Amino acid sequence: MAKKHCWACGFTSTIEWGKQAGKQRYKWKNCGILFTGTNESVTSNNEIVWFRNGA
Ligand SMILES: [Zn+2]
Repeated sequence: MAKKHCWACGFTSTIEWGKQAGKQRYKWKNCGILFTGTNESVTSNNEIVWFRNGA
């Protein structure tokens, strides 16, 4: 998993914090702010389609 910088404190240390609506949730250790992981599989699929259309 790529490290995600906290928008509040800039730290990247996270812990898994269960799932909600099928998405992995994380919490920054430093400040305790919760965030939901992005759906990386959908993003990568869109990039592949775009690449093929360009070629
Ligand atoms: Zn933070």
